[in-house]
Parts: sequence; structure tokens; C-alpha cells
Amino acid sequence: MESLEDRRVLSTLYSAGGSDNPGGGAEGEAGEDYVPDQLMVRFEPGVSTTQQEAFLTEQSATVVQEFQTIDWKLIELAPGRSVTLLDTANTWADDPLVKAAEPNYVFQSRVIPDDPFYTFQWDLNNVGQTGGTPDADIDAPEAWDIFTGTSNTVVAVIDSGIDYTHPDLIPNMWRNPGEIPFDGLDNDNNGYIDDVYGINPSAGTTDRMDGDGHGTHVAGTIGAAGNNTEGVTGINWDVQLMAVKVLDDTGVGTTAGIVAGIDYVTMMKTQYNINILVSNNSWGGYFYSQPIYDAIVAHTDADILFVAAAGNDTNNNDIIPSYPDSYDIDGIVSVAATGVVDELTWYSNFGVTTVDLAAPGGTLLTSAGWDILSTVPGGGYDYKAGTSMAAPHVAGVAALVRGLAPNFDLLDTKQLLLDTVDLLPDLDGNVLSGGRLNAFNALSAVNPAHVTGTVWSDENRNGSIDAGEQPIANWTVYMDLDNNGDLDAGEPSAITAVDGTYDITAYGGLGTFTVAQILQPNW
Ligand code: CA
Ligand code: CA
Ligand code: CA
Ligand code: CA
Repeated sequence: MESLEDRRVLSTLYSAGGSDNPGGGAEGEAGEDYVPDQLMVRFEPGVSTTQQEAFLTEQSATVVQEFQTIDWKLIELAPGRSVTLLDTANTWADDPLVKAAEPNYVFQSRVIPDDPFYTFQWDLNNVGQTGGTPDADIDAPEAWDIFTGTSNTVVAVIDSGIDYTHPDLIPNMWRNPGEIPFDGLDNDNNGYIDDVYGINPSAGTTDRMDGDGHGTHVAGTIGAAGNNTEGVTGINWDVQLMAVKVLDDTGVGTTAGIVAGIDYVTMMKTQYNINILVSNNSWGGYFYSQPIYDAIVAHTDADILFVAAAGNDTNNNDIIPSYPDSYDIDGIVSVAATGVVDELTWYSNFGVTTVDLAAPGGTLLTSAGWDILSTVPGGGYDYKAGTSMAAPHVAGVAALVRGLAPNFDLLDTKQLLLDTVDLLPDLDGNVLSGGRLNAFNALSAVNPAHVTGTVWSDENRNGSIDAGEQPIANWTVYMDLDNNGDLDAGEPSAITAVDGTYDITAYGGLGTFTVAQILQPNW
């Protein structure tokens, strides 16, 4: 028979890499794109039904499904085999009674969002629609086959505010759960009155509205609501965007305002448990500011990845450092800009030591279609260009990665992004990774891990259910990978009702997982 290994590769190309497979993968095959314990089988012509039944009985297998127009059968194998499913398929295929056997592969849709302006977003999917190079993009639709984001993840947009009334941003605005909106009181006692969507330290007021347009554009790239028949598509279809207005309505900010903004984000995570995983910082200058440095150290110590634009002055940042992006802090990711033909743009700063990777930022030449389309205040959409537009692509993909793999910390995430770029000649020697962000490569590299756990209703193993011991039936076992007490997106649940040991496939693949949280229904 033909090689199953070859066919697995083919199948993986057409399906989402690393499908979640809760409860499956009985023999350490976690993350493979097929149904555990099932085979598609075709017997040789002339093999009688009686012979087939005898064979299946001998193999402890049963027929699940037959078909009208082909003589393949879907077979369920007994669990607990000592060999892999692929080895079982090969062994069966070698049997004189069997013509062919292969896994029951999993295929997934390659969903294209229905947002009307999506076709202009060459940065997400470049088919040459604006005269650029096909595939000079971050492979967003391929990445969305794996994951489209989660509202559990908060991304802080430290910028000029966000138009929180924009129809394509309203669904994904962060709302402070401890604050009663606009009652004039600091309900959660965090030092900020009515910090509902975020704060505005640049003006000392409560209004996070974006009068400049910059922050709203950045926010849309990270997380304009996706597949909602409105406007554009964010890299995250679902996410929470926190508006931290450190730039005024002319796009200018101060050290104090910026420090207050960074400090607010850090504080809301460390003291109020808001799940802020990434901040985007599309601002900068050439002044080394120690308080900003210190604020970023506290920020990254709180496991918030600090994504920063590298600047638009065609400088080598290794020689002329730009800040905040060039601070020597591990949790900073510095981002250069590429254009429609995957070139390092004519304006982008670079630096093989200080700039980590590039992302689409637009060209700022001749055709508006060569720039980045996103949301602008007043409910509209427009093109902008710059490393300011490149950074939110990285922040957006970082949020996808951290939503999919809750046990990845900021440095795991940064390393993953740098390791999975598309290497480009124009970036070789100009950025550390030598490449441009690729969302699909990044999500594909978040390897599913195979974890096991045991749950018992008879906790003291004395053979009976005693007072205080709840029978497992109707309970739910789940994987709390990040130990935060909740089943978050990317953490697989096991449908479970009996005592036993469970094999669960989980994204992440790093470290040790806590297994077998036991919850009552409706907890
Ligand atoms: Ca592509
Ligand atoms: Ca408050
Ligand atoms: Ca209030
Ligand atoms: Ca939309």
C-alpha cells in the first residue's frame, strides 16, 4: 500500500495544524489530525461478510458506519492499544483480507471573514490585489483556521485613545468590571474615577476618546471585530482592547503621561487580576528616559509583552537608539515595517541587534492601497502607514499565541514569534530574526501537548463513596493549564462522568500541567 506518512503530510496541509483533540490521542499521538481509535477500512473484493466480521472480532473492532457508493467502512477500535493508530492501520493493510486502511482524518474549513473591506487588507492576505507580491502577508486566514482569538485576552493599546463607539470596535472594547460607568466615583478604588474603557493620563480627564485617530487605527489591526459583516477584520476576531490614552489629540505625549499609562496597565494586572497579556506601543523618540525604562521593567515583570514600533526615520537603531523599542529589556519586541512587496520600507528604522522582526506597515507611496486599512474615529475606515501600523500586527499575533497557549509566558511568546518569521532577503542583517511576522507559522508552532490525569470519586480509595466524597458522575474534569481557576480558551475540557484516567490534548507543550480540576455542574 502507499505510504501513510506521505498522506499524513498532505492531510495536514489541508487541515488546520495541531487540531485540538480533547480526550484523544491514546498512544501519545497528541495533536494528530485524526479521530483517535478510528480507521477507515476497505476489505479485499470477495472477502465475505462473515470473514470480515471474524476479522473485526479478532481485532476487538466494530463497524461504526458504512457508505452507499464506496465500500469503505468506518471502524472503531478498542481503546488501550499498545501500538499507534498508524501502526495499526499499516498492520491491517498488510493483512490479506484488507485492501487498505487509514486514519479517520480531521479536516477544517478555511474560513474567510465576511467583513466587507477584508479584501483590501493585503497585510493579512496578499493576493496582489493592490499590485503587491502575492503572499507578502502574515498568512492570517491560514492562522484563523487554528484560532481567531478569545475575549479572555486583554491587549492594552497605549496610544492616543480608542474610539470606543466605533461599530467595529465596540464588541471588543475592554470594560473595567470593577467600575460603575460614569457615576463620578472611583468604584474600584484604583485611583481613577470612571476608568471604564481605560484612562487618559495625558489630559487628566476620564475620556479615552481618540481625537487623533492613531490609537483607533492601531486597535483595529489588533482586534476589530472579525466576521461581523462590518468594516475590517482584526487579527483577533475576539479580544478585549484597553484604551490607555497617553498621546494627546495631536499625537504627542509626555514621560509622565506615558509612565502613568504603562503603570496603570501593570497595576490593573497585578492588583486587579485583569488578564492583560500584551501591550502595543506605537510611539517613541530618541530620549533615554529612566522612569519609562523602570515602568517597562515592572510591566514585563508582570508578564505583559511590550510590543514597540522601531520608528520611521530610516535609522539604524543599533547606532542611534530609539526608545522605548531599543531599551535592553527582554520583554520588549521591536518591530520594523514591510511593504506590499515584502520589502523593508524606505522609512523604517532597522537594527540587527535592537530590532527583532518586521511586520506589514504600509508603503506611504502613490497608492493608498499599499498602506494598512483599519478603523478610524467616527465609525470610519482609512489607510495609514508606519512602524506604528507594523507593531499592532505583532501585538495581535502575540495575543493569538497567548490565547491559544495560556501557559506561554511573554518570553516564550516572543521567542516563538521570532522563530517563525518568513525569512526575507531585505531583512537579512537588518532585523534580529531576519524575517517578517507570520501568524500561521506562529500558531502552527504552538505544539499540542499530551497530558494525563486521574480522577476518583472515592478519594480515600476505601471502596465506597463516603460523606464528603462526591460521585464523579455528572461532574466535569477540565484542564486548568494556567492555574487561574477557570477553563479558558485553549484549555481543553474532558467530557467525563466516571472515575478513571484521562488522556487530554492541550496546546502549550511547555512545563508541567495541573490536571484534573473537578468541578460540579454550573460552578
Ligand atoms: Ca498568505
Ligand atoms: Ca476606578
Ligand atoms: Ca465609576
Ligand atoms: Ca469587522
